[in-house]
Amino acid sequence: MAPVPTPTAPDSTIRHLYVHVPFCPSICPYCDFHVLTRRAGLVEAYLERIETEAAELAARYDVDLDTVYLGGGTPSFLRDSEITALVGSVRRHLGWGRLENTLEINPGTVSTERAALWRGLGIDRASVGVQSLDDATLRFLGRTHDSAQARAAVSTLIDAGFRVSGDLITAVPGQPLEADIDGLVALGVGHISAYTLTIEPGTEFARRGVTVEEDDERAGFERTEELLTAHGFDRYEISNYARPGQQSRHNLAYWGNRFYLGLGPGAAGHYPVSGTPAGQEAGLLGQRRTNLHLHEWLTGAAGETQAIDAEEYVTDALFMGLRVRQGISLGDLTRRSGLNVAEHYAAPLKANLTRGLLALEGDTLRATPQGWWALNRVITDFLEE
Ligand code: SF4
Repeated sequence: MAPVPTPTAPDSTIRHLYVHVPFCPSICPYCDFHVLTRRAGLVEAYLERIETEAAELAARYDVDLDTVYLGGGTPSFLRDSEITALVGSVRRHLGWGRLENTLEINPGTVSTERAALWRGLGIDRASVGVQSLDDATLRFLGRTHDSAQARAAVSTLIDAGFRVSGDLITAVPGQPLEADIDGLVALGVGHISAYTLTIEPGTEFARRGVTVEEDDERAGFERTEELLTAHGFDRYEISNYARPGQQSRHNLAYWGNRFYLGLGPGAAGHYPVSGTPAGQEAGLLGQRRTNLHLHEWLTGAAGETQAIDAEEYVTDALFMGLRVRQGISLGDLTRRSGLNVAEHYAAPLKANLTRGLLALEGDTLRATPQGWWALNRVITDFLEE
């Protein structure tokens, strides 16, 4: 048995920030995020609490941001004065991303003036919830925008100088997938996130008994890759495609299991334990904390915290790292976790290499295309070890 390495202390400076804005114009029937429609006084209370929480995070952690991601919900649904206040709180206490600052945008909220305001606030990347360019598909998905609005929004944002990503939902019954993909590419986006429609418990679609056949899901997953690859996009992550230089740096930090701050109701964060001697003594490598939902979060109550030991660190890193095409270095993971990964996980590694779901090249472990489709099963093997 090889000696157990000493974990290399991860850089405890936090370089990434996720901000959750939970408000949406209406709630889509497939959505299971923490979202709500706006009511009098709620956005004001939200902005006040954001100011306090940003100050608390700044006092507690060493923060030097590379990326900021304003997600939701629909952050672009905030009024001009509200988003200006939100960005002001972030900048005042935590700074701003030196590499990338993304705003999630609903096509129905875009105008030339608003795009200029967002650019002026320092936002340089737009993640637009296009979902489809087919009006019947958009109606089925319960979206509040139509195809013409989606096309106009993307063009306006590109003209305003944003790096633009378009979200696409695949495997929607009756969806003209090829036309959706060709249309989105023709608009000039440099990045596409394509997720298959999944029916989550508790959603309106689940209540209505909407189902998506696994065969349709898989066909959508595979056809999307064929079409986007033919258009010159690189599938750099299971569900994400980019032209050269257009990858999401923020999401790459998640998939690389880096630390990030979570600000806002329902936001998840991944934090270092340095500065908490008890955590270091217990051999913990970090903490995940998920903030409470809006009404409890407004009271200042603490969210749920989960300590990360070496095994959790490795399975988290594999679960996220195997989503990325370039894979994950086992040597690096061994150094970061202090667990000899090749030995500790010899059985699930061997089983999944034999099944053709994983591939090992030198020290780099990758999921094969079949492995991407079956990633949950692969990770379950590691969790059960
Ligand atoms: S716009 Fe997005 S976050 Fe809001 S309800 Fe629809 S899917 Fe959910």
